[in-house]
Amino acid sequence: MGQADLKRYQMYIGGEFVDATDQSYIETINPYTGETWALIPQGNETDVDQAFSAARKCYESPEWRSLTPTKRGKLLRKLAVTIEQNAEYLAKIETQDNGKLFKEMYTQLKSIPAWFEYFAGLADKVEGTVIPLDRQSVLNYTLREPLGVVACITPWNSPLLLATWKLAPAIAAGNTVVLKPSEYTSASTLEFAKIFDEVGFPKGTLNVVTGYGHTVGDLLSKHPLANKVAFTGGGETGRKVAMNAVSHFAKVSLELGGKSPNIVFADADLVAAESGVIAGIFAASGQTCVAGSRLFVERSIADEFIHKLVNRAKEIKLGDPTLPDTQMGPAATAAQLRKIEEYVDIARSEGARVRVGGERPTDPELSKGLFYKPTILTDVHNSMRICQEEVFGPVLSVIPFDSEEEVIKMANDTQYGLGAGIWTNNLKRAHRMARSIESGIVWVNTYRATAFNSPFGGYKSSGIGRESGLEAIYDFMQTKSVWIEL
Ligand code: NAD
Repeated sequence: MGQADLKRYQMYIGGEFVDATDQSYIETINPYTGETWALIPQGNETDVDQAFSAARKCYESPEWRSLTPTKRGKLLRKLAVTIEQNAEYLAKIETQDNGKLFKEMYTQLKSIPAWFEYFAGLADKVEGTVIPLDRQSVLNYTLREPLGVVACITPWNSPLLLATWKLAPAIAAGNTVVLKPSEYTSASTLEFAKIFDEVGFPKGTLNVVTGYGHTVGDLLSKHPLANKVAFTGGGETGRKVAMNAVSHFAKVSLELGGKSPNIVFADADLVAAESGVIAGIFAASGQTCVAGSRLFVERSIADEFIHKLVNRAKEIKLGDPTLPDTQMGPAATAAQLRKIEEYVDIARSEGARVRVGGERPTDPELSKGLFYKPTILTDVHNSMRICQEEVFGPVLSVIPFDSEEEVIKMANDTQYGLGAGIWTNNLKRAHRMARSIESGIVWVNTYRATAFNSPFGGYKSSGIGRESGLEAIYDFMQTKSVWIEL
């Protein structure tokens, strides 16, 4: 297909759909077929400036100021309904862009309205307080006010879900937004902009600029009109984004990577644990920030448990992500696939034993896709790179343990602290472990569950701030203290 035949997207600035000012594009590729299927505008500094000017103009407009929290809530509810109606369409686009299973993306897209509804409901429930000062002649109260313009930067693995986690609280709190999706998966966000445009928000409430991270993303995080930068992505990028944001005293929230432990005790329901461990690492081909990439299993059951996992991994059906019986799709990008291969090679050279996988499949029907087999490694140590660095692929490292103290030490011995799984039927142990693990989310006898009203975020190098739940809306607001001498 020549470039002339491809679908051409436009950016969304100030309520208008526009080309990049220098008319350049980035090709967006289907990782299953290897084919380019659309062109995404490659924005530049002028486009970014225009987006921020539009967002600021909107924020200062009488129209925005008269949009009370209740009215914002109503519009957000309307948006939720429209997304629900378009969930299948948007999920197909995401699958086409990042290669994740259609059934998974569809489930994810169908869950998005719940976030908009939740924050729509919160919009008019954020209250200030009256402070009981010692000076009784003074009335002192607080107002919670929006920040202004919020810059949002999102990754490729769950483009619209992760955009929603920022947009819904940001707009509910009364901010306007400039959003940049990943250059690999911008199409669904630009389709979302069309849906958003129909809802009736003032022009400039949401602006979507597309382009590369090191150019457009960098400009977003540096922009003097950005009052907050909300970022999801890798740690190294997060560090740059945070430094840029802080340099002009913008607030910053970061949702970064992980090296999450999944810990299985001998007293657990081992059938449930087996499924939890498999889904925890191989769902989305391991390309989730909370992938349970380190399995700690109690030594007394380790051999048999590993044997079962290896058999389960062998049975996982790789293939066309749009088909209902496919269980694992390709990696999203060629760079991502290379990274997975390199990490497994490093692990091998450091002494790891590949129990299953450890290579690309050779089946001819998978040859065009960026596939890597589900991989399980044993004979690893927690200090090896495979156990310390985020692979973001279908690679599980297994380490046996003998005691609770030992496993807590190993589980916490990482720079990350995003998610953790604990599998046990011992209630006291479950609570003890939940308190001892240094991570923002602990799942006991389940894994990877999220909800619009439950906080999500990382300890240590996994991030700053929380998305979802009550805390999220406060992260998009600032507090004013008002003193009145009576
Ligand atoms: P990435 O850091 O490469 O890119 C994320 C976004 O940042 C993209 O939009 C990209 O264009 C932009 N970007 C790149 N360089 C930039 C720069 N110099 N300045 C500003 N923006 C820049 O991450 P990715 O590969 O898209 O996503 C994978 C990473 O995201 C993994 O580390 C994963 O763990 C993390 N992630 C975290 C969560 C979470 O909620 N904690 C969720 C999903 C993914």
